[in-house]
Amino acid sequence: MKKILVLVFFLLMGRAEAAGWSPELRIGLLSGVEEISLQVSAPCIMIDAKSKKTLKKLPANKKITVKAKELKAASVDIRPEKIQLKDLRATIGEREYFGGVRLNVADKKFTVINLVPIEEYLRGVLPEEMSPSYPAEALKAQAVAARSFALKNRDKHKKEGFDLCDKTHCQVYVGTKIFETTDKAVKETFGEILTHKDKLIETSFHADSGGVTENASDVWGRVMPYLVAVKEVFKPVDSWTVKVSLKDFSSRFGDNFGVLKKIELSELKIGKGAKDRTSSGRVDSAQIIGSKKTVKLSGIELRRKFSLPSTLFDIKIDGDNVIFTGYGSGHGVGMSQKGARSYALDGWSYKKILEHYYQDSKLKKLY
Ligand SMILES: [Zn+2]
Repeated sequence: MKKILVLVFFLLMGRAEAAGWSPELRIGLLSGVEEISLQVSAPCIMIDAKSKKTLKKLPANKKITVKAKELKAASVDIRPEKIQLKDLRATIGEREYFGGVRLNVADKKFTVINLVPIEEYLRGVLPEEMSPSYPAEALKAQAVAARSFALKNRDKHKKEGFDLCDKTHCQVYVGTKIFETTDKAVKETFGEILTHKDKLIETSFHADSGGVTENASDVWGRVMPYLVAVKEVFKPVDSWTVKVSLKDFSSRFGDNFGVLKKIELSELKIGKGAKDRTSSGRVDSAQIIGSKKTVKLSGIELRRKFSLPSTLFDIKIDGDNVIFTGYGSGHGVGMSQKGARSYALDGWSYKKILEHYYQDSKLKKLY
């Protein structure tokens, strides 16, 4: 009897330890460095990532310096000896991260990679991607979008030896930055992803749609049935203005452009297409007529050239200036974070918010 009880106890222990497990991500942090300072929160082992042979033991809470030229393997992992990876903290330089570390060596230099379970990674990502002061349902929608994005884009940095970088190119991740609200949003959506026809989807998002989102095909030239323009019931309230002097504007088009004479672009009607606008009303193209030359630019090119918040804008020449007036911020594809906030304040659940911005999508528990 006693033996059986002990067995049951260990089985339950095993279950408890497995709880909270999530897929492990490799996040690229640094490259081309010759040495790093490292400290781990619990006893760890340094293993050869290839042969899995233990190279040495690392004590807890002791700062050490690891030099690339002294490493005995091309790739080493630093993992906890007794606890789960999710419960380990590693301080690299001045910054603390969830999980362990992989060091890849080439030409006596390191690529420093954080080995982190996705649920812990999301705790670090969420406060960077959405304000922790946003309502709970908006944060939960963002958590599902960020989780789906991370899993969908795991091969983005394959050539460099990791899954995702820690910058805006992938998702901003600064390690252990803990907020109660964002932690709760990650926890309450544990393992949940968005799918379309049972396949993980590309969950693009942006700061503010300005009243209507955009078709992925109009921005990236790729048709994605779930990333299509949807209207928001909220009227855009904050317009933006960018003022450029006529002289400055003209000079951006080169010496043989001359002086700006006229801009041909139909008037903006949010949510209404035109021959030179996409179905959401965003600028598809505009004719920029100079005294010596006419240039046709896409809305995306104009946005880039003049650092405009979005492509949902009007342009007019006003005396010695060119004035851009527009709405929204970002590419406009997928979920609008500001819209998600408004819907959450209106009582929508995160599921309803996600299904609105990602058409025909379904929430699914992956683990
Ligand atoms: Zn990246």
